[in-house]
Amino acid sequence: MSDTIRNRVIGVDVRVSQTTIAVVDQRGNILATDSFPTTDYPDVNSFLSMLSERIVTIAEANGGFDKIRSVGISAPSSNYLTGCIENASNMPWKGVIPLAAMLRDRTGLSVALGNDAHITTLGEHVYGTAHGMQNFIVVSFGHGGIGSCMYSNGMPHLGSNGSAGEIGHTCIVDGGRLCSCGRHGCLEAYASDRGIIQTARGLMDESDQPSLMRSLEELTVKAIALCCDQGDELALEVFHRTGEVLGIALANVASILDPEAVILADQPADVFKWLLEPTKEVFNRNVFGNIRDKVRLVISDLNNNERDVLGAAALAWTVKEYSLFK
Ligand SMILES: [Zn+2]
Repeated sequence: MSDTIRNRVIGVDVRVSQTTIAVVDQRGNILATDSFPTTDYPDVNSFLSMLSERIVTIAEANGGFDKIRSVGISAPSSNYLTGCIENASNMPWKGVIPLAAMLRDRTGLSVALGNDAHITTLGEHVYGTAHGMQNFIVVSFGHGGIGSCMYSNGMPHLGSNGSAGEIGHTCIVDGGRLCSCGRHGCLEAYASDRGIIQTARGLMDESDQPSLMRSLEELTVKAIALCCDQGDELALEVFHRTGEVLGIALANVASILDPEAVILADQPADVFKWLLEPTKEVFNRNVFGNIRDKVRLVISDLNNNERDVLGAAALAWTVKEYSLFK
């Protein structure tokens, strides 16, 4: 038996475009990070070979692999209860993939896997805006769609299948826009980046009103926000319309849960600057009256590049150390 104290963990954030790895100590200090394009590995076995190789390399360069206690992974459509990525619609790997077990077999470390929205929320609870809160909701915009997770009495609400928190796929407009999930009128079809861009295109098509958006090389949410900085009325209308839909969805979920706060995460500050106010206005108008002045609608104060690897690291501490002899 080795008597080395394993006082570090690895946090891994798997996103559609990029995978980020961090070595994190017991206090949540990120000691080192590394990243590689997820899209270079359409085959999950080659992805895992690259991931384990990078984990060993970054660990060896930062105090040694034998200091690493365990690994936590954040990935889309992942189930903490099974350790599998389950039919992730945006990822190249189809079907059910036992990612936690596959990485454990390659590294000899305990591996915990969690749904990206749940891990974002864990990061907020352990290191961010939700620190010390018992009841709160985090809504995250940074993974292509809209994810959320709620804590109730200090515990995450995972649901009986591990799939709780799909606020992005609650219906806001009956018979509305087609969503990536195949249904119509979901929040995600309006308030995700893709939805916001669709709203902008629609507004430009509806009228001849001049707008800086018309001459943008690439229509992105951030670029639309920068048009708002110039006082562009049509761009302001994009966020006004988005806020109307988002405000109602958040008011509904807050009325059900009575949280201390609804925390919005993972959009650039330039975007929240224009999205927050219209959302707040509609939220306050629609949330249950008895909690209106009590529930706070706020922006996360964690760094967008660090939140999910910190959440994944926090998850890593929750699993037992792996040993063949235990
Ligand atoms: Zn949907």
